Amino acid sequence: MILGIDLGTTNSAVGIVDSGFPILLADEEGQRITPSAVWIGENGEIEVGRKALRRRSLEPERVVTSIKRLMGRRTAELGENFPVAVTSSNEGLPLVLGKSPEEISAEILRELRRIAEWRMGVEITKAVITVPAYFHDAQRAATKRAGELAGLEVIRILNEPTAAALAYGMDRLGEKSRIAVYDLGGGTFDLSILELQDGVFQVLATHGDTQLGGDDLDGLLLTKILTSAGITGLSLAARARLMAEAERVKMALSEQERAVFRVPFYEGSRSIEQEISRADLEELAAPWIAKTQRLCRLALADAQLSVEQLSAVVVVGGSTRMPAVRRGVAELFKREPDFSQHPDEAISLGATIQGGVLSGALRQIILLDVTPLSLGIETFGGLMNVLIPRNTTIPCKAGELFTNAADGQAAMRVRVLQGEREMAKDNWELGTFDVPFAPSAKGQARVGVQFKIDENGILEALARDIATGTDTVIQIHHAAVNVDDAAVEAMVSESVKHAFTDMAERVFTEAKLKAEELLPAVDAVLAQGLALDAERGEIEAAAADVRAALAAGAANPLKAAVQRLDLATEALAARLVELAMDAALERQLAGN
Ligand code: AMP
Repeated sequence: MILGIDLGTTNSAVGIVDSGFPILLADEEGQRITPSAVWIGENGEIEVGRKALRRRSLEPERVVTSIKRLMGRRTAELGENFPVAVTSSNEGLPLVLGKSPEEISAEILRELRRIAEWRMGVEITKAVITVPAYFHDAQRAATKRAGELAGLEVIRILNEPTAAALAYGMDRLGEKSRIAVYDLGGGTFDLSILELQDGVFQVLATHGDTQLGGDDLDGLLLTKILTSAGITGLSLAARARLMAEAERVKMALSEQERAVFRVPFYEGSRSIEQEISRADLEELAAPWIAKTQRLCRLALADAQLSVEQLSAVVVVGGSTRMPAVRRGVAELFKREPDFSQHPDEAISLGATIQGGVLSGALRQIILLDVTPLSLGIETFGGLMNVLIPRNTTIPCKAGELFTNAADGQAAMRVRVLQGEREMAKDNWELGTFDVPFAPSAKGQARVGVQFKIDENGILEALARDIATGTDTVIQIHHAAVNVDDAAVEAMVSESVKHAFTDMAERVFTEAKLKAEELLPAVDAVLAQGLALDAERGEIEAAAADVRAALAAGAANPLKAAVQRLDLATEALAARLVELAMDAALERQLAGN
C-alpha cells in the first residue's frame, strides 16, 4: 500500500487505494482534512492539526503554521513575516522553536501516517507526497527528508497540479491535451499548464505567488473592520481570534449575501460587531483576484498558448469556493472551469491515485460500472449518512464507525438507504437489520458499518460490534446497481428541487444535536463556577443565543450560535482537560 499525501501550507490530507478505489482517510473526529499546524510544548511535547490549533488561544507563540514556506530555504532568503519567531542555525538554516522545518513537517506526516494506519489497521511505510510545481530541488529534497523522518519511504514527489489533473481524470483526455490548473489556497497561488505526453503530465509553464492566498483576504477584511471601528493595538491572542472570525465571515459570504462579524469581549470588555456584505468582500477581493489573473496570463505567455488552445481548466484550493474567484477564472479562460471535485481534496485524491497506480492497486482501464445513486445509512436525527456516493466505480468498499445515541442502549438499527436526499425518510430503504452490543453509556459503543459492492453489483452491508468482533451481514442483490433509469432521474431531480430545504434541514439537525450536547455540559461547568470572570459573560451570552436559535428553529443562526458557544468555551475546555490530566497524574503518583 502506498499513501497519497497532500502536505499543504494550511491543510494536509492523506488517502489510499482500498479495494481498487481511492479514498481519503478521516481521523477520529471524522475529518479528512488535517490543519498543517504543530504545537510544540515547553518540554518538547507535540500536538498536530486541530489539537494544535486549539492551543492557539493559550499559547499562540508555540503553535507553528505555514511551515511549508520555510522548507528547503535559508534563513537569509526569508525576509517575510512568519507567524512564529524564526532563528538561524550555525549553517544559516531556519529553526522554529529549536526544530528544523523538516522536523516540523515530519510531525504532520507522522500524524497523517498514524491516521492511515489506524483506519486501515496495518503498518504503512510508503508514500507519494505532493509539492508545488515551482518547488526547486532543495525544497523537494527537504520534503523527501521530512517523509523519511516520519518513517516513510517517499516513492515519488509529485507536482500538485499533476495530482489535481489526475483527480479530475484528465489523464483520459488523450495525447497532447493541455490543461490549466488554477490553485488558490490559504497562503499561495499558482497556475500551471500541463501537457499530456506519452501518458505522463509535463509542466509546460507555471507562475504564481507564494505570498498570495485566502489568508491575505482575511487580513484585508480585518483591517477594514478595525479601521472603521477605530481599533488599534491588539494583543497576539486577540488578533488570532479576530483573524479566525474574519475567515469565518469570508467563508460564510461564499454561501450567503451578508454575514455578521462578531467577537465579543476579545480584550477585556471590548467587543466588535459589524455586518459585512458579499459586495464589501468582493470589493476588497477584486485587486487580489486581478493579481491571480495577471499571473495566469504570464503562464500562458510562457507556454505560448492562447486560452482557446487549452483542453480543460480545473480549479483547486479552498479559496476557489468564492463565487467572485470562480467568475474571475471563467472570465479569464472564457469558459466554465470544472468545479466538480472537492477543492480541498483534489490534490490528496490525485496523490492517492498516483500511489495506487505505482503500487499496482489501481488498474486504470477497467471501468466496470458505477453506482447510479448514493448508498448510506440513517444516523442520529434521521439524517442520511452517505457511505458510497453516487457515480462511484464498482467494485467498491467503504465504511465508517458509529456509536450509540443513548445511555444503556443495547442494539443499533441499521437502515440501508439509497438516494440523494439529506433526510433518511426521503430516500429509499433497501433493507434493515439490528446489531446487538453490550449495553453501554452514550457514545461508548463502537459499531463499524461497511458497504461492499462486488463486480456483479451485489451490495453486502456488514456491521461489526468492535468490542466483541461479532459481525452481522445482509446481502442485497442487484438493488444497488440495477435501478430503473427513470427512477434515478426522478430521484436526482427531486434532490435538486429540494436542495435548499434539505440542506437547511441537515444544517439545523446537525447544529441541534451539537447544541443538545453542549448546553448541559456548559450549564454544569458554569454551575460549578469553573469559568473565569472574563469568559463567563460571553459563554452565557452565547448559550442564550443557542437557546433562542433553537426555539426559533432557524438553521443558519443556530449553526452560528453553536460555533460561537464552541469558541467561547474553547479556552475553558482546554483548561478542564488539563485539570483532568493533572488529577489523573496525581492519582497515579499517589497510587505508586
Ligand atoms: P487550502 O490551502 O487549499 O486548504 O485553502 C485554504 C483557504 O481556503 C483558506 O484561506 C480558507 O479561508 C479558504 N476557504 C475555504 N473554504 C472557503 C469558502 N467556503 N469560501 C472562501 N474561502 C474558503
